[in-house]
Amino acid sequence: MNNSGHIAKQLQRDAIRQIVPYKANKQNYKIKLDANESPFSLSEGVRKKVSEYLLSDGKLNLYPDSDSDILRKKLAIKSNANPENILVGAGSDQIIELIIKAFVDKGERVVMPIPSFSMYKLDTLVYGGQPVEVSLDKEYRYDLDFFISSIKKYSPKVAFICNPNNPTGTVIERKDLITILQECKDTIIAVDEAYYEYFGETIADKVNDFDNLVVLRTFSKAYGLAGLRIGYCIGHKSIIEVLNKAKPPYNLSSLAQIVASLILDEEQANKEKIKNILEQREYLYNELKKLKGIKVFESKANFILFKTDKEIELDGFLQHKGILVRSFKGSALLDNCYRVTVGTKDQNQEFLQVIKDII
Ligand code: PMP
Repeated sequence: MNNSGHIAKQLQRDAIRQIVPYKANKQNYKIKLDANESPFSLSEGVRKKVSEYLLSDGKLNLYPDSDSDILRKKLAIKSNANPENILVGAGSDQIIELIIKAFVDKGERVVMPIPSFSMYKLDTLVYGGQPVEVSLDKEYRYDLDFFISSIKKYSPKVAFICNPNNPTGTVIERKDLITILQECKDTIIAVDEAYYEYFGETIADKVNDFDNLVVLRTFSKAYGLAGLRIGYCIGHKSIIEVLNKAKPPYNLSSLAQIVASLILDEEQANKEKIKNILEQREYLYNELKKLKGIKVFESKANFILFKTDKEIELDGFLQHKGILVRSFKGSALLDNCYRVTVGTKDQNQEFLQVIKDII
């Protein structure tokens, strides 16, 4: 028998050898405020329609539409674009991966902000690329000149911009994005708008003006479908054509395509859910600001970053009460920082009560 597990360790690609796998929080919880998910479950209307679809066969024995035509048409109308500007994926995670897979050869550079969403770096490393991490300023805002000069210095194939930025909630202004697009014409500028619905500003309307622009979106946040893994991008037609070549043919399941289309039809309900989160964000922000010993960062997304002025076992206390938040304790740029997702009013109140007791 050869069961020592030695062979895989030996044969793995060099790029994979150095990877530390992404670890999601799997603790038990009562209130989950650690992953920027929506606190609202699927509406009864959509659940009924999905049940009817499954009861009337659903044809799950057949592969899904490889181009997700119906969904792409809907997304195109919603985004004032054409279906040829849209590509859908199994979460925007898959879109990030596709961008790197399609554009970045071994040893080539990818520029990204730091601190930011970890998948830009992880995927770059998996494909053998070289991440170039460009620091945000002390208040975690984008430093436009530094970002542009880094792109000019390193000539990356791709530069990611996360707007609003996860985990800081900070944003880059539209005019600054346009400056980047104009100044860095030889780099694909991938603007990750995972939290667009809470921010309300986009650069997606510019995809036909700049052939280096692609904008990433997700159904995991405002649309509350994190469990179904649905993301999309809006980009210049030429970028979408290239990404399509790297896309697995059946990357979005039939069920995911159907539920995403149904959710888009629930316009009023979606607006109300977003409004509710925005009100709760303001409430949470104001309440956190009242507390001594913590610095709160203004956020345009559905989460808030805050920093304690001394080391406290905040996440331990919260966990003990069944509340999960994301801790960045020990990380170089986010030491003593915590990110809390904006939940329902009850969830936020319970979280605040525990925080107040500790601080
Ligand atoms: N981009 C950003 C900035 C995110 O925060 C996340 C999720 N945390 C994603 C992309 C990935 O989202 P999903 O794959 O669920 O669409």
